[in-house]
Amino acid sequence: MQLLDGKATAMQIREELAQAVKQRKQDGKKIPHLAAILVGNDGGSITYVNAKVKACEEIGFESTLIRYDDSVPEEILLGKVHSLNEDKSIDGFIVQLPLPAHIDELKITQAIDPKKDVDGFHPTNLGNMILNIPGFVSATPAGIVELIARNGIDTEGKNCVIIGRSNIVGTPLSILLGRNANPGNCTVTLAHSKTENLAEICSKADILIAAIGQPGFVTAEMVKEGAVVIDVGTTRVDDASKPKGWKLVGDVNFEEVAPKTSFISPVPGGVGPMTIASLMMNTLKAMELKGK
Ligand code: NAP
Repeated sequence: MQLLDGKATAMQIREELAQAVKQRKQDGKKIPHLAAILVGNDGGSITYVNAKVKACEEIGFESTLIRYDDSVPEEILLGKVHSLNEDKSIDGFIVQLPLPAHIDELKITQAIDPKKDVDGFHPTNLGNMILNIPGFVSATPAGIVELIARNGIDTEGKNCVIIGRSNIVGTPLSILLGRNANPGNCTVTLAHSKTENLAEICSKADILIAAIGQPGFVTAEMVKEGAVVIDVGTTRVDDASKPKGWKLVGDVNFEEVAPKTSFISPVPGGVGPMTIASLMMNTLKAMELKGK
């Protein structure tokens, strides 16, 4: 079993990005600038946004964090999105999801200029991804593909099962791994809560990716000997032994599954750091696509 160390792979990408920033500075070019909008006080969202801002600082990107109270009216948020679209100093920005119930997430996502949509959630970017037109691929699926590529995993002709069909992870990932590319050329099964005989389907996968948010859902009998297992799930569970009183748990029962695998990604330290690295890559790309 080999660990798919997302933390180490993401660090390698960050070093490359830091080098690119250094070079841009030397050439007198603009430094990438990422803005993030955070609404409310959800612990998970605050942690994710802070990690993104910290990554920007470490790489040498500029970053701006814009915070609103839970009660912010939708028009105010839309107004901010429009002003960031127009702001020439900002190369890309994200609106951290989920948003409070009174705000229409789709409306906000659709208001973002696709050229600044470094999360890749805008319908234009999703469409571009499907047609393999240059644009932004959402950070988690892009990070998983990068993790596969940088660890030399062969995907061609492999039977890949993805559990979870969300618009931000499972569905785009099924397109990326099914397309005629490297990584890619998998035969993909996209499973979900209505899938029958899920355990049997999973047990035939050469590459098994779990993105459902159910701690420890994937057990040893669902995994083929020698499979590649990628765990996207991150659920906070109470743990009094941790300083924060909780820990992050993946969708895979790591202890019992790991011995059967050829590669397995841990939680934390697997897909999470790759998501942030991809967002940074998208931000640099946003600036380069504008010819800056
Ligand atoms: P989501 O929108 O919560 O959707 C969950 C998906 O899992 C749905 O397609 C659902 O099926 C399916 N599902 C739920 N229970 C299932 C079961 N028992 N059997 C089969 N399928 C089941 O998903 P998401 O936003 O993609 O998040 C999934 C997990 O990944 C969460 O833990 C999230 O925190 C994590 N995540 C991590 C990162 C990272 O950077 N590490 C990024 C994004 C998400 P239906 O469609 O039929 O309801």
